[in-house]
Parts: sequence; C-alpha cells; structure tokens
Amino acid sequence: MNYETKAVHGGRKDKTGFEGPSYPVYLSSTFIQESLNDFGEFVYTRSANPTRDNLEKQVAQLEGSKYALATATGMAATALSLSILEPGDKVLLNNNVYGGTWGLVNEFLSEKGITYEVVDDFNTYDFSQTPEDVKAIFLETPSNPLLYVTDLENVIKDAKEKDLSVIVDNTFMTSYLQKPHEFGADVVVYSATKYYGGHSDVMAGLLTVNDDELYERLKLTRKFLGSPLSAFDSFLLNRGIKTLHVRYDRQLENTQKVAEYLDQHDGVDKTYYPGLENSQGYEIQKRIAKGAGAVLSIELSDKYDLDLFTRSLEIFDLAVSLGGVESLICLPALMTHETYSTDLQADIGIKPNLLRIAVGVENADDLIQDLEQAFEKSRK
Ligand SMILES: *Cc1c(COP(=O)(O)O)cnc(C)c1O
Repeated sequence: MNYETKAVHGGRKDKTGFEGPSYPVYLSSTFIQESLNDFGEFVYTRSANPTRDNLEKQVAQLEGSKYALATATGMAATALSLSILEPGDKVLLNNNVYGGTWGLVNEFLSEKGITYEVVDDFNTYDFSQTPEDVKAIFLETPSNPLLYVTDLENVIKDAKEKDLSVIVDNTFMTSYLQKPHEFGADVVVYSATKYYGGHSDVMAGLLTVNDDELYERLKLTRKFLGSPLSAFDSFLLNRGIKTLHVRYDRQLENTQKVAEYLDQHDGVDKTYYPGLENSQGYEIQKRIAKGAGAVLSIELSDKYDLDLFTRSLEIFDLAVSLGGVESLICLPALMTHETYSTDLQADIGIKPNLLRIAVGVENADDLIQDLEQAFEKSRK
C-alpha cells in the first residue's frame, strides 16, 4: 500500500462487531481483567490504551518503522529521545534547533551532567574529530528558523561509523516527505502538534524506533515519566493524519508560490526556503526528501516597518507554531527562539528582522495579495 492509503486505512484492525472507519475513543483509565492469571492487552492507560495503540500503529506504518510511541507533547518526545543519554555523555546538536530543545539541553540536561556541543555545519563536520564522550547526535533538517539543510544520508552514515546514536527531529518534514530511518537514524521524533495534527487544536508528540530493546526501554521510561498521549488527543491525531498528505500537497504548492513572490520582492532582503534553486541545500533537499516543506523565513528590508507589516496582515495570524491549515507568521527572535541569548541569536544568524512564515492550505493568490497589501501599508 502507498502512503496515502496507509494514512487513511492504517491502525489497529479490531473485530468487535461494532467497528467503523473511525476508531473509538476509549476514555477509560483502567481496564477490567479476566482473572488473576489472565491479564489482557490493556491494563492501565498510562501504560497502554487502545486508542493510542491504534494511532501508534498508524504512525509506524507511515514511517515504515517497527514501533511508534505517542507522547503528551513534542517536547515530551524530544525529552524521551534524549533519555537514552547517561550522565557524562555528550550530544552534538545542529546550530539552530527548536527553542524548546535548546532550553532542555542548555538549561536542564547540562545541569544533570549530560553535556552538548553545537556543530556549526554537520555537512562539513569531520566525525574523526569527535570527542570520546560524544554518544549521540541530534539533528533537525531543515533547521528552524533558518531552514538550513543537513545531508541526512551522509551525516548519518558518518555518525554510525563512529557508533553514535542518531536522533532526528523530523517535525518540519513528517514521514510523508522524509524518512530518517531509511538513512539509519535510531530515533525519529516529532511534534505532532504541527503537521500530523494539522488543525492547531491538539498538542502531541511522536517517536519512532526499529530496535526492540530500545522500544521497550523508551516505552517504560514514558510510563515512569507519565508522559503518554491521552486517549482523546490520540483520536484527534489519528483523525488529522488521515488527511496529512492532502493538506501537505497543497501547503507545498502554496509555499513555493509564496516563496517565489517574496524572494523577488524589494521588501525582502533574504528568503530562506530550500525549495528555491538559489538557496543553500536545494540539491541535498531534492535528494533526501520529497519536498521542501511549508515553512520559510524572510529578512524584512529596513525600508518597511516590521511591526506595522505584521499587524497589517489579515490572513496570516501573528502566532507561533506551524503545520496547521492556517497560515501563521512570527518573529523568531522574540517568539520562538527567546531561549537563545541575544549574542547567540546574532552568532547563528537569527536577526531581529527575521520573520518565519508557516503556510497553510488557503488560496495562494489570496495569501500573496495579503502580503502585498501589508507591504504597501508598512513602507516607510
Ligand atoms: C513545535 C516543535 C517542537 C516541540 O513540540 P511541542 O508539541 O510544542 O511540545 C519540537 N521540535 C520542533 C521542530 C517543533 O517545531
């Protein structure tokens, strides 16, 4: 079966006599057992729940992985993935990771003895120089908010030669566009709050693995930490995923048009989008993924008023997040990457005039017209 069919039909196949195309929400914290020596598949929802299990089967089928685990948020999945590290271990990160991941590593894990090192550019990183205490690498590509493309295929190959664990945050791409396990990634994590959910109404995380032992360990850790996804949110996510490919196709189409429009506009100093031929990583992106995603960033020219520009937009809402059906715009320096110090922001290129745009499924001409009228109103 192809991706689109699995998205619609994937999941558990229970034969209860009541089954419909929509899997039920089992809003039960506990499950009645047959007898003391006959415990069923489900005992207590923090360990496992049928609605969540249905979602996890659907997600694993789409990823082409053996297992999936659903968590309460994307950050819970990220934290779970990094729980494979022990005090004394070090993790290598790319230089503009999600703000929450940066906060977790920089402000929380480092105090628990798990250290990190930021790699400026994994594409040119020499793994033979890797210090002894490095046990894992954590990659996000395209990166956030600068859309820097890391060559997953080559970087994972090099990292595996050094026996490093590889974790990929694949939120921006989803399994529809990019499959890190096929390149050898050990753990793939998602904020399913974004494209999988798709409607800005559910917070969730996903994690996929192939290794049996690793899966059991992570599942147990999720139970101890108490961070699984609720039954109701599992239902919402399962429902959202059924249309992921349809939404994402439209979002790719819209984003390409919006990016091309912005790239030639005199109100834009620089456009970051790996779907533009002149952008960093264009060729790599074409090789490792089936599309360039639906997030782009721009540096607004100082001939335009930043505040007035964002306030003048009528379709693009000023809000953090991405991956929903609606288009959003935000200022990373203030809104998503505020865990980075101002110096570090400057260092890695998150300028104060950098705007991140998440493109939705609206009509592309309407989106462009909205941007155009905001440019007109905000010209100094
Ligand atoms: C949003 C996001 C996260 C965190 O997910 P939450 O669901 O907000 O906890 C992690 N990584 C990336 C790339 C994200 O965009």
